[in-house]
Amino acid sequence: MREYKKEETKVLERIVCNGCGKVIAVKHGMPMEGVLEVRQVWEYMSGKDGRMDSFDLCEECYDRLTEQFQIPPATTEVVELI
Ligand SMILES: [Zn+2]
Repeated sequence: MREYKKEETKVLERIVCNGCGKVIAVKHGMPMEGVLEVRQVWEYMSGKDGRMDSFDLCEECYDRLTEQFQIPPATTEVVELI
């Protein structure tokens, strides 16, 4: 006799940029273009204690956002290990 537990798996189908609404295609769980994923859990000292905010930005929206910074983001060359 075999018994199976009913399990639901979440498969990422697509990502929608919160900034402009652009749809970013996903293949095998990987976005097909550059995307910034933000998952922020606000803690006690913030005015948003216990809240999690999340959003995704396409590369164009990321560039537009970071161009407004007084101090640009730090960048480092990353060697991909495959
Ligand atoms: Zn966008």
